[in-house]
Amino acid sequence: MSASMASTKVPEVRDITRIERIGAHSHIRGLGLDDALEPRQVSQGMVGQLASRRAAGVILEMIKDGHIAGRAVLIAGQPGTGKTAIAMGIAQSLGPDTPFTALAGSEIFSLEMSKTESLSQAFRKAIGVRIKEETEIIEGEVVEIQIDRPATGTGAKVGKLTLKTTEMETIYDLGNKMIDSLSKDKVQAGDVITIDKATGKISKLGRSFTRARDYDAMGAQTQFVQCPEGELQKRKEVVHTVSLHEIDVINSRTQGFLALFSGDTGEIKSEVREQINAKVCEWREEGKAEIIPGVLFIDEVHMLDMECFSYLNRALETDLSPVLIMATNRGITRIRGTNYQSPHGIPIDLLDRLLIIATSPYTEKETRQILKIRCEEEDVELSDEAHTVLTRIGMETSLRYAIQLISTAGLVCRKRKVSSEKRAYKEPFCSSLWTDYIRARSSQYMKEYQDSFLF
Ligand code: ATP
Repeated sequence: MSASMASTKVPEVRDITRIERIGAHSHIRGLGLDDALEPRQVSQGMVGQLASRRAAGVILEMIKDGHIAGRAVLIAGQPGTGKTAIAMGIAQSLGPDTPFTALAGSEIFSLEMSKTESLSQAFRKAIGVRIKEETEIIEGEVVEIQIDRPATGTGAKVGKLTLKTTEMETIYDLGNKMIDSLSKDKVQAGDVITIDKATGKISKLGRSFTRARDYDAMGAQTQFVQCPEGELQKRKEVVHTVSLHEIDVINSRTQGFLALFSGDTGEIKSEVREQINAKVCEWREEGKAEIIPGVLFIDEVHMLDMECFSYLNRALETDLSPVLIMATNRGITRIRGTNYQSPHGIPIDLLDRLLIIATSPYTEKETRQILKIRCEEEDVELSDEAHTVLTRIGMETSLRYAIQLISTAGLVCRKRKVSSEKRAYKEPFCSSLWTDYIRARSSQYMKEYQDSFLF
């Protein structure tokens, strides 16, 4: 380990092309506050919940001024009142690179990993390290790509890329796997591409589609032939943002960063973490790296037990700590693993460190507005009538239930190829296709069929 730590490896995970996905909170782009930190009724995807957003704004300022150390935030309120949305809004307001890690209190109870290890990993996922690197970029026009399959029948391909820089023709031997990937990604003669000499990353029109490290891990090498004099080379500063956890994983497992994809990161030794902390602090002092404390959001915090709470108390005191935001929908309840009751099931010593924000249920108007924003986000068009039906469902059941009906109803309409989608939306909301709990329909259903469920 000590040998590999000498040059702590940094995974380049942020460069992987992201799959576009509409998440539950993808419409939240901030807290929707004005310059005086007053919440606007509807802004940055946020609606209503004014008192809690105002309080969140104050906390945001404290975080920015570095005054949050040693404390944490608790958001308390009924399900679906926007606790996660507010935590997300704080993270978004801290900047695009700010890591946001969310987990539910129940998630840390696993047979594979101790509770405190799960918490440590969550803490470190929420701390970003922005690393600056100077790298040589070669820019040129693709003259030809040759791909040959060797006779050995290994399935590997070899090839050469002929790249014309502005000054002269240069040939790069890019290694077999990489050339294979290049061909799949359809780089053609005439395309202008850039090659990062340090990482072997090739980009076309700002989109990078292959990375040397992936292929190195599979045993292929990226090599460049000696560059002739006069070739166009540019120096460029490249910034990567990775989390401390990603650095931990790549430096602690034999399979390196591939463990990040398999999810099998296992327990990480505390010595590894200590060495990485020391290295990262050294980079920070040398101006090579910047630490970005992100947001760790722990939902259902009443599910944690005494051991976890004691860990949190200690972790909040450390230098490398993210902003801890917890949420609960419980009032006075038992602290897990004890016979004592306390507010939100949290021990007093941790409660003393908390700034508590309360969320309250939405009015009909606010529910309607949030549903409208979600429809826009999911690209679903609703007639006024359907919107009213959906709002009523949201008020009678929950906002979350109404939100998840949007995409389901949209899908039903598309499948049925109805000519006027707008009119048809009303029907799928109340569809007999699935059981909802409007007017306790599902409990009625359970009662009627309980005999069959029991056996
Ligand atoms: P739970 O206690 O069940 O975890 P929660 O209080 O965290 O619920 P969220 O998950 O934040 O509630 O809210 C449910 C949905 O409603 C999410 O899609 C969220 O983005 C959206 N939402 C909630 N409040 C607002 C708001 N004020 N403005 C815009 N969207 C909101």
